[in-house]
Amino acid sequence: MEISLYNTLTRQEARFEPADPARVTMYVCGPTVYDTAHIGNARPPVVFDVLRRLLGRRYGKANVVFARNFTDIDDKIIAKMHASGESLEAITERYARIYEEDMAALGVAPPDLAPRATAHVPDMIALIEALLAKGAAYVAPSGVYFSVAADPDYGKLSGRAQDDMKAGARVEGEDDKRAPSDFALWKAAKPGEPAWDAPFGKGRPGWHIECSAMIEAQLGGTIDIHGGGVDLIFPHHENEIAQSETAHGRALARVWMHNGFLTLDETKMSKSLGNVLKVHDLLKTWPGEVLRWALLSAHYRAPLDWNDDLLAQSKASLDRLYGALQRLNDVAPSADDPPTDFLAALCDDLNTPEAIAALFALAGEANTVKKPADMARAKGQLLAAGKLFGVLAEAPNAWFRAGVEDADAIDALVAARLAARKAKDFAEADRIRAELEARGVVVMDGASGSTWRRA
Ligand SMILES: [Zn+2]
Repeated sequence: MEISLYNTLTRQEARFEPADPARVTMYVCGPTVYDTAHIGNARPPVVFDVLRRLLGRRYGKANVVFARNFTDIDDKIIAKMHASGESLEAITERYARIYEEDMAALGVAPPDLAPRATAHVPDMIALIEALLAKGAAYVAPSGVYFSVAADPDYGKLSGRAQDDMKAGARVEGEDDKRAPSDFALWKAAKPGEPAWDAPFGKGRPGWHIECSAMIEAQLGGTIDIHGGGVDLIFPHHENEIAQSETAHGRALARVWMHNGFLTLDETKMSKSLGNVLKVHDLLKTWPGEVLRWALLSAHYRAPLDWNDDLLAQSKASLDRLYGALQRLNDVAPSADDPPTDFLAALCDDLNTPEAIAALFALAGEANTVKKPADMARAKGQLLAAGKLFGVLAEAPNAWFRAGVEDADAIDALVAARLAARKAKDFAEADRIRAELEARGVVVMDGASGSTWRRA
């Protein structure tokens, strides 16, 4: 099945055709590692993880090369160094590790390549030198700047005209720029800040040049897909394009994809508003699959409002699917492909809400089919679809057991009931069943034993 994707650059959805189907390249901007990730930060990794799984299915898993960086040198990291007295390495190592743990809990597979900005400073310096040689950058006392006037295409991704960008572009400490919209490639060293030697003066890289250099070093050439949150279109991705395309004379990426904002109870999540929900904290209350499901419940380009209802609904949705799988506990799955309508929805610019509707229809089928062949197919399709979506990875019994405080007591009752039945003490078996019902537990008897869940 062919995949079609919406391209921010062309403002159109089109059939996706990689330059080389044997090496499909994708880059997603990763976190700045100075703090733990909030749930809004988790939307791009989860969305692009589904895309990566889909590409892997279409082109072969080994033929998809996915890079996601760590920004481990930045103003915010330096501010944290100064506030805590810790080294840059101590801070960035710690938060990179927590990020990896959080992403694993959300079912996000580790990227093939996870470059760190500080390991690519020589590549950044080379890129800046190339821009200086082309006259597209200049050295000022406060650093090296990209000259936006040197790039006639500047603004093509965001659709902003150069004149619009002049207002409000003033950045503190950059008073020696030639034009307000020029942006820093290199920041001149300041006392107490990490700095690297460079032919144009000691200093550290700007954020945008980091991604341009890492993409070139790790993936090379024009990559197939570049992704990130919608807030990165301008200035970050616009500037990545300006730097890379001016230096190399070829497109940086063929398809640009951006996920929509995440709001919290309909307000923008921001540190300054104090309404920030950490992935780490949410995972204490909710299974990772519930958070993942919630993040995929809206189309990736649409805004997503995060609230308690969304989480409760996501849990209920997964319960429905796990319930269907639990009914088929003793069935060996026969199919290893997801249903066509599920696949078609994902291939249509990652239409996850439609894919979810297809999953519900399939769960309905799994709950009613009676012929062994139909049961085996339904289970296989559910598991295959779950795998592509990154959910249903747990055993149904374990899923329903998780978070149930009296699970051990229920297990003991279920076992006692089974023993009573074996001993043909049906009065006792019925008594226990009634006790389980009083606890709100539904028991299902199967060939391999009894399973239960909270009704
Ligand atoms: Zn980036």
